[in-house]
Amino acid sequence: MKLRVGILGATGAVGQKFIRLLEGHPWFEVTALAASERSAGKSYRDAAHWIESTPLPASIAEMEVQLCEPGLACDLVFSGLDSSVAGPVEKAFAKAGYPVISNAKNHRMDEDVPLLIPEVNPEHLALIERQETPGFIVTNPNCATVGLTMALKPLQDAFGIEAVQVTTMQALSGAGYPGVASLDAVANVIPFIGGEEDKLETEPLRLLAPLSREDGQPVVRALDIPISAQCNRVPVLEGHLECVSVKLGSSSSIDGVQKALAAFESPDEVASLPTAPSRCLLVLEEEAAPQPRRDVDRGAGMTVSVGRVRSCPVFDVRFVVLSHNTVRGAAGGAILNAELLAARGLLAHRDV
Ligand code: NAP
Repeated sequence: MKLRVGILGATGAVGQKFIRLLEGHPWFEVTALAASERSAGKSYRDAAHWIESTPLPASIAEMEVQLCEPGLACDLVFSGLDSSVAGPVEKAFAKAGYPVISNAKNHRMDEDVPLLIPEVNPEHLALIERQETPGFIVTNPNCATVGLTMALKPLQDAFGIEAVQVTTMQALSGAGYPGVASLDAVANVIPFIGGEEDKLETEPLRLLAPLSREDGQPVVRALDIPISAQCNRVPVLEGHLECVSVKLGSSSSIDGVQKALAAFESPDEVASLPTAPSRCLLVLEEEAAPQPRRDVDRGAGMTVSVGRVRSCPVFDVRFVVLSHNTVRGAAGGAILNAELLAARGLLAHRDV
């Protein structure tokens, strides 16, 4: 029997991506949709302005949208809630016994909450042991953090990292719906995304840190590596592109760096999950790759593409990273997290 899934923030951009990606999922079935009081009581068709490029699934269209309150008939919830409300709502669900798999920033840096990319730090799931609620919260990182961290992981493992500089060009869908006003976005670049640079400068340091045990308790202490981030909103629909320069801990040829990136593979327990792509990190050889329009859907949006790997006259190496912000950077990443939890036996049918 499939696990029953509720979606908090079901009407938003990320909520819609959950609905699309969960259609026909082999392990999960959507049984509850919740959003704000503006939407509660309406059919999903009436409450949501559907922006996905595939039709709204018929099984979802007539479901009633509920309030984001415990009592939803499901075994786990995905959260695509606005960060202005996600913190206490997600806690309330965890207190009521639900596993909460969240996209929101609110609990990402809590010391007992895993901030998870299954291919990078699956061992961090042990932090759940420290949560004192009957349910628990697991988070996925900011949409721009995912691509950067996936590319840094093999370099950290092979050479160590001493400093990172990253400049992002981020898609409009990252701002949700209706997001950035068209008169600001069209034929323009906005060199500011509120709160984004701080997330890029901190979240990778937690994701790349080892898990240790102190007095028997699992602990993650963030690495101490300077990351300088500059974030820009560009008129692209889907896909965050990032230009990255890295100072390595030990010297390497560019060939060595390319080989380390190309050799990066999912751990076996992750590679076999339904949403895992065949390659989680793909090095592209073409001189003008990756590009959002051409490469964002690689691996059904779950593959992170890297290109233009070359030496850097200031640091050691530079390259370009592309990741799908609403798939790998949001709903798809959260579904992969839930699949890892299910594979480890951490999700169960509940009597609700
Ligand atoms: P969005 O399109 O603005 O959707 C926000 C959702 O939150 C809607 O379903 C909305 O419901 C609900 N909501 C707002 N106020 C609420 C309240 N008081 N009570 C209950 N529900 C409420 O935003 P989004 O882009 O989907 O982002 C959702 C979350 O994911 C955010 O925390 C964001 O930072 C994070 N995230 C987004 C991306 C991305 O690429 N877009 C990537 C990673 C993470 P109503 O429709 O009823 O107002």
